[in-house]
Amino acid sequence: MRKDSAGLITLVAIGLFVTSSVIAGIRVMPVPETPKVLVNQVGYWPDMEKVFIFQANDQSVVAGAVFDVVNVNGTVILQDQPMTYDGLLWHNHYASGNFTSIVAPGTYEVVVRGGGAAWRSPRFAINDGVYDILFERAVEFYYYQRCGYAPTEIVPGYVGHLICHADDGYWVDEAGAVHWKNMSGGWHDAGDYGKYMESEYNTQYTVYALAYAYETCKEIFNGLESKYDTAAPDIVDETVWGAQYLQKVIVPDSLGDARVLCNIFRREKGRFDRMGYWGVPWADTDNVANTSDDRMAASLFISDGDTWAEHHEYSICFVNSAEAMMVAAALAKAAWIEKDFPYWNDEPYNATNLVANATALHDSHVGLIINATYAVNRSQDWSTLWTTLDCITELARWANYTHDDAAWNRYIMESNTLRTRLINRMDTNSSSVWTNIHDTVMALFHHDAVVNGSVGTDLVDLIGRYTNETIIPAANSTDNVFKFYKSNTWIEDPPGTWYFYEYYFHYWGHNWATSTAAAVAMLGYNMSGNQELKLRAADNVVHWMLGRNPLDLCQVESLGTHNLPIYHHRYASIPGNPRGASPGCIPNGIARAPPIETGNWWQVEDLPWYDMRSPIPGFVELGDFRSNEPYITDNAGFLIGLATFIKYWD
Ligand SMILES: [Zn+2]
Repeated sequence: MRKDSAGLITLVAIGLFVTSSVIAGIRVMPVPETPKVLVNQVGYWPDMEKVFIFQANDQSVVAGAVFDVVNVNGTVILQDQPMTYDGLLWHNHYASGNFTSIVAPGTYEVVVRGGGAAWRSPRFAINDGVYDILFERAVEFYYYQRCGYAPTEIVPGYVGHLICHADDGYWVDEAGAVHWKNMSGGWHDAGDYGKYMESEYNTQYTVYALAYAYETCKEIFNGLESKYDTAAPDIVDETVWGAQYLQKVIVPDSLGDARVLCNIFRREKGRFDRMGYWGVPWADTDNVANTSDDRMAASLFISDGDTWAEHHEYSICFVNSAEAMMVAAALAKAAWIEKDFPYWNDEPYNATNLVANATALHDSHVGLIINATYAVNRSQDWSTLWTTLDCITELARWANYTHDDAAWNRYIMESNTLRTRLINRMDTNSSSVWTNIHDTVMALFHHDAVVNGSVGTDLVDLIGRYTNETIIPAANSTDNVFKFYKSNTWIEDPPGTWYFYEYYFHYWGHNWATSTAAAVAMLGYNMSGNQELKLRAADNVVHWMLGRNPLDLCQVESLGTHNLPIYHHRYASIPGNPRGASPGCIPNGIARAPPIETGNWWQVEDLPWYDMRSPIPGFVELGDFRSNEPYITDNAGFLIGLATFIKYWD
């Protein structure tokens, strides 16, 4: 790598190669100062469009530059190729070059030359199986996140941990009585050791996404080496692991209906203390069941006073319908892939029992959503409608499989009334549903394909309108050289004045939304044949995620050349893991700089930002949670986005 006067800054930005003593405490952001040749650091399929982006803060560097592509042996494959100047964005000048003509399998670098200097890209591969490793790592991430388990070093260089939180189990019923049951298992989430259920995007969404990815790209997963648990593909083991936990957090309420407990949190001296522990996971509790340090199920309102979680439909101890229906959807879908393998037939979490759990949750919650004459309760919000549709689609498939005609007929009535309601209500420009809209589209598509046997023309039309009004214009705005999916929202500022705000970066990184936007683009491509959608899906779910972004970061830990120097993860306490890294981890993603004092996120300039602090020995100062947190939803969204992308690529 070229060294120059800005060398220190360069090294900080790729902090993996820097000892913390050199740069302790320095925070460098938003964007590396030296010119960068940005590529997908994992690589490209031979038949893909291949475009690299050159980034420099001085336009004179960009003007007149040309590029070569060399292979790993130093052989020049393309020479003196012209680049296109793409303009100014985020205080940088951009140019791009196209090397689509290279299709021979191999390992390559792009070299940009100008003014007597040269800048090299990270190495990347071109071959047909280049993305298979993404699936492998994205699943292994969950293995390393397992709670109540002792993950071993299945990915070289990434230590696991000793068994932890084997004593999870207190819960409180509606009358305030305390009970204990075995609730070990599941996954550590959000950079801490908590286990979350109170959003439909929590643990239940991950189980659903794992099952979805396997079902969608079965051949690829079947071809990967099995490294843990049974001889079934690891993604099936991981799905079953998650389903087992979902099953454990189902309890009967005082009337005997099936309910789902909220999150599992630690306590200190009898009080909730969710964030108070920074040590290794196995020393958080004594791992002895039914002793005073055992963690307890609770709503975020009870543990932290989060007022959004104050009002629950059934009781503060149980999640709402949206979250419970997503649990049911995940269980029934997990059962669908579990049934094809013999390993769990005699376990309490076999496919038959998981479907029974899902059915009980459906029956216990559907009454508030759809009434006896199959009308949708209009006070139910968007989250409940799409998760319920996912649940009913999965249960309908099981009813068909078991020839249960009565159940099938009921599910058909329920799912079609939900479908009508969702399609009629879907406003493609409504910011209120911007996170849910991709999953709603996926739920509708899956429903039509599985239950109706074909995708309805009204849904085809809706997906076409949605992609034409959102994904394509966002990608085509003249300054968007990365074709990065833009979001929008309504902002009230000053109070009483609302305006529509379109942006690149939010307070939070949104890798899960970037990924699922690509999934919807791919569905749109599949239905319309519009090549633009296929290209934009690739730009987001693979190129942006894997390094062709303004920070030159491969956002799948352990792959590519430049990963995050530090995560916001308590695993940084584990000896041998100073970066708090789980292989395959997809962090929240590129956010914008933090608001100053009492300011609001949208008042900060819309620039890409990642926290690049390095760990200081003896002092756990972790990367910023808004960008660097391993939120399990990001890996789930990525599995959905990538699986859909691969399935419909042709
Ligand atoms: Zn644990």
